[in-house]
Amino acid sequence: MHHFEYQGSELWCEQVPLARIAEQVGTPCYIYSYATLERHFRVFDSALNTGGTKRHIVCYSVKANSNLAVLKALVSWGAGVDTVSRGEIFRALKVGADPKKIVFSGVGKRDDEIEYAIDKGILAFNVESHAELEAIERVAARMNKKAPVSLRINPDVDAETHPYISTGLKKNKFGIPVAWARDEFLAALKLPHLEVIGLDCHIGSQLTKTAPFRDAILRLGELTRSLVKDGVKLRYLDIGGGLGIPYNQEDPPSPAEYGLAIQDAMKAFAGLDLTLICEPGRVIVGNAGVLLTKTLYLKQSEIKNFVIVDAAMNDLIRPAFYDSYHAIWPVEKRGGAAYVADVVGPICETGDFLARDRSLAQKPVQGDLLALMSAGAYGFTMSSNYNTRPRVAEVMVKGAEFAVVRKREELEDLIRGETIPSFLG
Ligand SMILES: *Cc1c(COP(=O)(O)O)cnc(C)c1O
Repeated sequence: MHHFEYQGSELWCEQVPLARIAEQVGTPCYIYSYATLERHFRVFDSALNTGGTKRHIVCYSVKANSNLAVLKALVSWGAGVDTVSRGEIFRALKVGADPKKIVFSGVGKRDDEIEYAIDKGILAFNVESHAELEAIERVAARMNKKAPVSLRINPDVDAETHPYISTGLKKNKFGIPVAWARDEFLAALKLPHLEVIGLDCHIGSQLTKTAPFRDAILRLGELTRSLVKDGVKLRYLDIGGGLGIPYNQEDPPSPAEYGLAIQDAMKAFAGLDLTLICEPGRVIVGNAGVLLTKTLYLKQSEIKNFVIVDAAMNDLIRPAFYDSYHAIWPVEKRGGAAYVADVVGPICETGDFLARDRSLAQKPVQGDLLALMSAGAYGFTMSSNYNTRPRVAEVMVKGAEFAVVRKREELEDLIRGETIPSFLG
């Protein structure tokens, strides 16, 4: 469900034609729909209201889309944030996020990041190893503070998703093996500058079934029962993010179905007074954004058609990186026969494609605008300056209004911070 729809033959975002944005802002650019974001957040949030816990916090996963305008909107609806770096915490605080709704995940937190997070008073570190527990203890002791920690458990369940975005298997770098978790909890309780407040897991991204979520929660439930016997007091259960979205043929569970599955699995925690934390990213922003691009050239090889557009793998790396699918819609429908082509960018890499052997609704002509759909998550945040291409503009649409929420980089931006040392003359 999103607010990118045709009015007649023209593709609009809410009450703004995409062609108007292209005219005023140029291409390529990312376009986010405020109404879609709001709808996704509220549907997800209310799906958890039925959960087996009394309270929950939706900690939006910043790495999916970290634009300040997106964060500001989400925070205004009551979202907390899931962060994986000092930079993401900084962004969240910039838009007024409540530190008591910030969790900090990731396997490689540096001392300076730990110090920053303690100083800002975040809700919890999601701790991924014994060495990290010791690092947080050391930094907290130095600051003469107590740091709140949840242990991220690797429950060894198969998320049945792309191997690069599966995180809950024994072979993945994430979390503490469930078999060792009890020992780690007991070790953490002995560290005087840590306050052990909960447990956490995140098994992967773009999940299209509820069973892996349920299996992970049930494993955490077993662990929790043994911890309660040991006298460990837990207040938070963080079940991570990962709910998938329809890019192409996928049929992921709706937030309501997800909420019911969580509610059911939460019976494993009956009798405990836990606040539930969720860390959705993609399901909130994925379908709330598109990448708008312009057709530069049509080109044929002996065996293929190529549509060369002005967006490239540096702007949207998901097709090259995960072999992922983004639907491509013409901004102006003219009718006519479908046209099969590879849609590629200007970058000097064979991996620079946005779609391969794609049946486009119509044959584009030079100058035609195309919208790469479902590009709101892991789109701009994964973009780079490869080939010294400026990072593109980001635009937010709200009703009949739109605003540039990150301006397109200019030539000087591309060399900012670089210097030529004096020994080069
Ligand atoms: C990336 C990530 C998420 C969000 O995943 P989505 O698939 O976008 O919902 C949540 N939690 C952690 C720890 C992550 O690394």
